[in-house]
Amino acid sequence: MKICTKNHHHWSLLDSLPEDKSGAGKFKCAGCAYEKGLRAGKNKEESLNIELETLHESQSMTLQHKSPHAAFAKGYLDGISNF
Ligand SMILES: [Zn+2]
Repeated sequence: MKICTKNHHHWSLLDSLPEDKSGAGKFKCAGCAYEKGLRAGKNKEESLNIELETLHESQSMTLQHKSPHAAFAKGYLDGISNF
């Protein structure tokens, strides 16, 4: 899986998220997970699939341990709330 090269702009939004210290998502990009959740929220998708294996790997030390599950959920909520 590729390393994430996106320049995410929501790092500060993810500060409060729990860390994923040992789960499968540990090295997945929480920024990508957030954006995926946000898209799902905008579209009000009713069948959600995080599909962790499709996410890029994290390159950012600060986000490396953030839970992509939590990031996806936050993105989904923000997508519902803002659109
Ligand atoms: Zn990313």
